[in-house]
Amino acid sequence: MRASSEHLIVGSSHAAMAAIAAIRAHDEAASVTVLTRDRHFPYSPTLLPYIVSGRAQPAKAFLCDAAFFAAQRVRFERSAAVAAVRPEAHEVLLADGSVWQYDKLLLATGAVPAIPPIRGLEEVRFHCLRSLEDALALRAGLSTARRAVVLGAGLIGMHAAENLAKAGVAVTVVEPRAQVLPGYFDEEAAAEIAARFVANGVVFRFSRKAVAAARSDATDAGCRLTLDNGEEIIADLLLIAAGVRPACDYLAGSGIATERGILVDAAMQTNAEAIWAAGDVAEAPSFLSPGRTVAGILPEAVAQGRVAGMAMVGDPALQPYRGSIPRNTYRFFGETAISVGTGIAGPPPEAAELHIRRDPDTGTYWRIAFLENRLLGIAAVNLPLDAGILCELIRREIDLTPEKARFIADPRETACRIMSRLWR
Ligand SMILES: Cc1cc2nc3c(=O)[nH]c(=O)nc-3n(C[C@H](O)[C@H](O)[C@H](O)COP(=O)(O)OP(=O)(O)OC[C@H]3O[C@@H](n4cnc5c(N)ncnc54)[C@H](O)[C@@H]3O)c2cc1C
Repeated sequence: MRASSEHLIVGSSHAAMAAIAAIRAHDEAASVTVLTRDRHFPYSPTLLPYIVSGRAQPAKAFLCDAAFFAAQRVRFERSAAVAAVRPEAHEVLLADGSVWQYDKLLLATGAVPAIPPIRGLEEVRFHCLRSLEDALALRAGLSTARRAVVLGAGLIGMHAAENLAKAGVAVTVVEPRAQVLPGYFDEEAAAEIAARFVANGVVFRFSRKAVAAARSDATDAGCRLTLDNGEEIIADLLLIAAGVRPACDYLAGSGIATERGILVDAAMQTNAEAIWAAGDVAEAPSFLSPGRTVAGILPEAVAQGRVAGMAMVGDPALQPYRGSIPRNTYRFFGETAISVGTGIAGPPPEAAELHIRRDPDTGTYWRIAFLENRLLGIAAVNLPLDAGILCELIRREIDLTPEKARFIADPRETACRIMSRLWR
C-alpha cells in the first residue's frame, strides 16, 4: 500500500496529541495522519501503575477516542509500526511493507524499556511497564504471584513495587545504586522514602546488580535470579524497570542525527529537512545546562509536541522551546515527595549554596539549592509544594535575595506569594 499525508505523525501519546492540537489551531484544512504501533487509542503511560493495581480501569488511561479524531479530521492508523524513514524520498516504511509519503514528518515515538545484560534472561519470563499491554500482563501476573523481584528503584520500579506490595506480594527491589530514586532525591530523602517501603514489607538490595537468571521450576513464571554478590532470589514474577531508552532504532541508515535520542533544535527540528521530533524520543535543549538532554517527563513531551506542531504549520506565534527542567511529584503509600530542578540529588555545582531542613515532628524534609541567589532546585518529602510554581521560579531566574531567608524557612508559602505577585 502507498498513501500520503501533508502532516504525518509517528506515535500517538502525549507529544503527538499536543502536536495535533497545535497543527489544528493554525490550520484546519491540512491533512494530518497519525501512525502508531499501538493497538489502542492514545493513552497516558502515567496511569499504568494504577491499572496494574486495579485502582484504575484501562478506560481511564485513554486520552481520546474515535470521535476526537473524526472531529479533528485526523486519520488514525493503529498497529502501524514504522520500520524505516527515508528523508530524501519524504517516505516512511512500515513493518508491514506499506509506504507513507509526507510533506512534514513528526517523530514522537517515545521510549522503550532498557533491558540490562543478564545471563540467561532470554530463558525467563519477565515483565516491563511501558505500554497498556505491559500493564495488563503485569496485572494478570499479580493474580498468581507470591514473590516478586523488581530490578530498578527508579520511578517505575518504585510505583510497581508499591502496587505489588499492596496486592500482598512479597517484593524485593534490586538497585545498582546505593539508594532509591537516584537522580531525583539525595540520600537522606531517599532513605526516608525507602523506610516507608520497608515498613510495608518491601525488601531492598542496594548496590547490587542481577547477573544471571534461570527458570526456577518447570512453570513459565518461576525465576531464579543471581546477584553480583552470589545471592540467589527465587520469584514467580520478575519486573525489569532498569530505565528507558529513546525508541529510535528505526532511524538506522536514515542520516537523521541521534546521540541518546533524536537531536533537535529549539524548534524541535532534526538535522533533516521537514522532519521534527518531540517527547521522550527527542534530545532537546536543556534549560539548566548548555547541552541537550532527553527530558523523559510528560510536561516536557507536551511542550515539545506543541512547539513541533506549530513549527510544522509555520505558526507565526511559535516561541522557541524554552528547554527542559526536571520535575516530578511522587506519591507513595499516602505520602508525597517532590523534586524540581537540579543540584538536589547528586553533587551540586561548585558555586551552589545548599540548605537542608528537617522537621522530625511532621516528618518533613527539604533541600534547596541556590546559585547566585536564584533557585536551582528543590526536593522535599511531605512538604506540599507546587512543582509548577517552583519550575517557574527557576525558569524566570528570579533573584530571591530579599526573600531568601523566608524561602528557606517556608518554600511553599514564599514561592506562592512571589509567583502570584509576578503573575498578576
Ligand atoms: C509507568 C510510567 C509512569 C510514569 N509516570 C510519570 C509521571 O508521574 N510524571 C511524568 O512527568 N512522566 C511520567 N512518565 C513518563 C511519561 O509517560 C512520558 O514522558 C510521556 O508519555 C512521553 O510521551 P511521548 O509522546 O514522548 O511518548 P510515549 O508516551 O512513550 O509514546 C510513544 C508512542 O509512540 C508509539 N511508537 C513507538 N515506536 C513506534 C514505531 N516504530 N512506529 C509507530 N509508533 C511507534 C508508541 O506506540 C506510543 O504511541 C511515566 C511513564 C511510565 C511508563
